[in-house]
Amino acid sequence: MKRRDFIKKAGLVAASASFSPLMFANAQSSRFRFGMVTSWPTALDTIFGGATNTAKFLAEITQGDVEVEVFPAGAQVGGLEVYDAVSSGAFEMGHTASYYYVGKDFAHGFFTSIPFGLNAQQHNAWVLSGNGQALWDELNERDNLIAFPAGNTGVQMGGWFNKEINSAADLQGLKMRIPGIGGQVMSRAGANVQVLAGGEIFQALERGVIDATEWVGPYDDEILGFNTVAKFYYAPGWHEPGPCLGTYVNLDTYNSLPEDVQDAIRTASHAANVQMLADYDARNNDALQRILAGGNVELRTFPTEYLETLEGFTDEILEEQAASNQLFAKILDDWRPFRDSIRAFHDISEKAFLDYAIR
Ligand code: CA
Repeated sequence: MKRRDFIKKAGLVAASASFSPLMFANAQSSRFRFGMVTSWPTALDTIFGGATNTAKFLAEITQGDVEVEVFPAGAQVGGLEVYDAVSSGAFEMGHTASYYYVGKDFAHGFFTSIPFGLNAQQHNAWVLSGNGQALWDELNERDNLIAFPAGNTGVQMGGWFNKEINSAADLQGLKMRIPGIGGQVMSRAGANVQVLAGGEIFQALERGVIDATEWVGPYDDEILGFNTVAKFYYAPGWHEPGPCLGTYVNLDTYNSLPEDVQDAIRTASHAANVQMLADYDARNNDALQRILAGGNVELRTFPTEYLETLEGFTDEILEEQAASNQLFAKILDDWRPFRDSIRAFHDISEKAFLDYAIR
């Protein structure tokens, strides 16, 4: 019997019979309250919205049977502690970026973004229609977790710098906030790399603790105020061409849920995934125009040679990881041919159209 049918039938029986503690207990056990810790400050309404939208859509789909209380970074656990907090079962759910956890296993990088990798549309194709979800499951299962795509920023910006970047040599000693495999690439290029959660970056940049940072793009970066403390704003975000955020669920909790609730969590996450990309796409250009109208910021694009150098480091890192990490190698063997194949088609479809349209 489907859970909802059961509740309706139980309700009918309960209404027509005398009080039944068993019926009451059964009806109650079909309602769920979960806590969701996140990596985001509330001020970043688009990315924090990935979490609140997952909760909202989940309540809608289950007609209120699943309630999720969403906590911003720092309210219960730090922004970079979400993975452990859900893995341990301290909280049932989390919303975070898998690449914050490349220190646990480099393979987590695939499920947010790999430098010079997939854009949002291509990442969704790999996860939702290719083998991405099954490979993500295999990785997360080892830490008692399951995760679903629940937000994407689209191609990010390359970041904010306090000086011009003309070649990779300009990165020597540069203190930059940049997480994930992009951070490893910058480190290889000579930068001093730091990983800070979103709410911690402004102060570090303002006080000169870091010389450069990346976050997301104009809409978020304006909220965080980077345009008031850094002069050069670079495109494109080579390190994050389509970063995906995830709804994480403790796997023991997930496995204990009725199938329709499991389905609802996945569906709500997918809806939040679409909504976040739509929000960023709809808002970024207005924010960029406001930033540029302020007059303090110079918009630049990275030189091609610089990007080629960083792409070379990226390929080196992927090969090194594949040589020492079996699961990483397995994912790379699936991900790379997928990337090459979808790029070949996008060359004559998406790119061919945009090349003409934006000329
Ligand atoms: Ca970023």
